Amino acid sequence: MNRFSYARPVTLGAALDAVAAGRVIAGGTNLVDLMKYNVEKPARLIDINALPLGSIEETEGGGLRIGALVSNAAVAADARVRERYPLLASAILAGASPQLRNVATTGGNLLQRTRCYYFYDTATACNKRTPGEGCSALAGVNRIHAILGHSEHCIATHPSDMCVALAALAATVQVEGPRGGRTIAFADFHRLPGDRPQDDSTLARDEIIVAVELPPEGFAAHCTYLKLRDRLSYAFALVSVAAAIKFDGDIIKSARVALGGVAHKPWRDEAAEALLRGKEASAENFTAVADLLLRDAVGFDHNRFKIGLARKAIVRALGQAAAGTPQSQFAKTIQ
Ligand code: SF4
Repeated sequence: MNRFSYARPVTLGAALDAVAAGRVIAGGTNLVDLMKYNVEKPARLIDINALPLGSIEETEGGGLRIGALVSNAAVAADARVRERYPLLASAILAGASPQLRNVATTGGNLLQRTRCYYFYDTATACNKRTPGEGCSALAGVNRIHAILGHSEHCIATHPSDMCVALAALAATVQVEGPRGGRTIAFADFHRLPGDRPQDDSTLARDEIIVAVELPPEGFAAHCTYLKLRDRLSYAFALVSVAAAIKFDGDIIKSARVALGGVAHKPWRDEAAEALLRGKEASAENFTAVADLLLRDAVGFDHNRFKIGLARKAIVRALGQAAAGTPQSQFAKTIQ
């Protein structure tokens, strides 16, 4: 680990003055690991834990505003989240471990970096760690890597569960910077790798996430988070699906499907979701959505199985959502 200086501003203004020349740390559940592995070598850490960003508040529009410093555990345990956004609570509880969720923050969850093995191994080439160096995963072990939206420069996936639910719920990200505040639609917050895999998000270097805002519609009656992984706890998703449906009688009024573990960002496709509008909840209609969502999927030597797994997971998750909320994490197997 390199030597670094440390600052703990107590106002947002002071934090913004410092952030361009340093690296923000909150829970530190990812950044400290990256520093230990010498993947990240910040000269200065800006600890934002003293900022007043630790509460969950009602919005005027009927949604919730989750401060960037609210822990993942506190979001999942919040009675309003559990009642109105069970999809979000379920996704958070499917991730990490209780100890990590107690410390990891809402803003930090959005900014966690890929778990690609080569990214963490400084003895191997990685365009995300060192642009222009090459991608070891392309011809290496790529079982956990992307099947959608990848590029010749990077085939990494985004590791978050929470973000998959936030994508399905069409949350927004509130940020502050020296040019003022701005709101970023969740779909526009994370990037595909293209020829700049080193940039995971559209957050500028001198900006700080201050909150995530949930819209009023939480799809509470019909939603599920289905996470498929190599073991049932403390593992990243091979494929995950956040599915949410709004019914008008027996007819689907609107639907949301977001995928995790398959791309450099949570994967949503509004054209695929629109297929369900005005239709009945049936395996045939859910399969059509899965086929459209995965129409451009391309796998590599070790992860082609993800395409078939994702197809089955989408159909299963939509079926679970249609059947009603909640479902046990332990009953979410694929047959
Ligand atoms: Fe690096 Fe991305 Fe290639 Fe992994 S997939 S080695 S993160 S460039």
